[in-house]
Amino acid sequence: MLSKSKHNIVSKIADSNEYFIVNLLSGNADVLTAEEYQNYVNNSFDAEMYSAKGYLVDEAEEKKAYKNKYLDFIDARDSDEIQLFFVPTYACNFNCSYCYQSGYETNPSYTVDNELVDSFFNYINLEFEGRKKYITLFGGEPLLGGTSSKKFLQYFINKCNESKLDLAIVSNGFLLKDYIPILKEASIREIQITLDGPKEIHNKRRPVKSGADSFDVISEGIDLALQNQLPINLRAVVDKENIDSLPELAEYAIDKGWTKSPYFKTQLGRNYELHYCQSEQGKLYSRLSMYQDIYKLIKQNPNFIEFHKPAYSIAKFLFENGELPDPLFDACPGAKTEWAFDYTGTIYSCTATVGKKGESLGTFFPEVSKHEDLIEEWQERDVLSIDKCKTCSLQLACGGGCGSMAKNYNGSLHSEDCRPVKELLELGIGLYSTLKS
Ligand code: SF4
Ligand code: SF4
Repeated sequence: MLSKSKHNIVSKIADSNEYFIVNLLSGNADVLTAEEYQNYVNNSFDAEMYSAKGYLVDEAEEKKAYKNKYLDFIDARDSDEIQLFFVPTYACNFNCSYCYQSGYETNPSYTVDNELVDSFFNYINLEFEGRKKYITLFGGEPLLGGTSSKKFLQYFINKCNESKLDLAIVSNGFLLKDYIPILKEASIREIQITLDGPKEIHNKRRPVKSGADSFDVISEGIDLALQNQLPINLRAVVDKENIDSLPELAEYAIDKGWTKSPYFKTQLGRNYELHYCQSEQGKLYSRLSMYQDIYKLIKQNPNFIEFHKPAYSIAKFLFENGELPDPLFDACPGAKTEWAFDYTGTIYSCTATVGKKGESLGTFFPEVSKHEDLIEEWQERDVLSIDKCKTCSLQLACGGGCGSMAKNYNGSLHSEDCRPVKELLELGIGLYSTLKS
């Protein structure tokens, strides 16, 4: 007895009379005319064709295929590269209007003991022996002024080089220029720098603590980094206050020649209430409303795509690769292929929990200790461990979302952080099919 697959995602394409059907388990996607869609709803379709594509299935067979793909996913993850964050300080030389870390305790003097750095490298080389891995410096701001932070970075880079590990850095970019000679000694994976819009908007949102502007000096740092073949990942943190200025930022990056560089890429981050409450919640976007506005923005400014191509769930992947990605049984890499460590010697699951009270998973300094039960709780989180996800047709595109967000909202790690997959696909398939034609 055949029935429609539980993993079919069917909806209308934005600004079109057509529909889509996507099935991550079978790996098929098709556009349906309005008539074909009606036939699908009324169960009067070509059963042979639909079962060949996995849209119509034998339930027992589909369960078997699901189990096999799940095992493939777990196997593949076991050989995935691990990203290890290290926080040398929670202090920062900026005073960003929306900083979620402004309530954190900091060590403004920023002196990380070489002994602690040695312990970090000993820990990761032993714990993740034989695994592909790289390190990302995170903060606070890892590129601060003063000799002690430079000394730290020099030592840290020597240790990365000794262990043959790539280094990425998340920085506000203010002192990037000064650090370029040191950074050139490392194998730099990328430097993530934030510009929140064109000069006027960025300077308003991301001033230096002294009140000084930061846009021009960051822009010079990006120029210099690209000239030195240091990869830049330019990030804009988006909310309702700066969204309209993004096309101007895109134009700036295009005029600068950045978008033509093979060392340049971009990302958009959503400004959201992480774990330090904001006073102006009204300017924040939901995940969906942000991408709805970006859809409108790209329709009005098609050149924006030269600066940034949003993923729209799996839509961008589908259009760029001509096929669907593998099913995503787990979207949260925390304590699996992502870990975070800070200058106090504490181990955390990821960047969302690092430095947060009650989120420690153990220590690597002064001695190694692990909360195995908590680590296991993180490692067991996937769409099969979350009740709501088990029966959700979107699970293989969504992957259950972010564990930390789920815990913040629902009080439990093994709960859902829903992604508006269907709505994002409506927009993304609509957008990329018109841009293609
Ligand atoms: S908890 Fe959220 S931020 Fe942390 S690894 Fe998981 S998805 Fe990423
Ligand atoms: S998090 Fe929500 S949308 Fe995602 S798979 Fe689970 S129930 Fe579905």
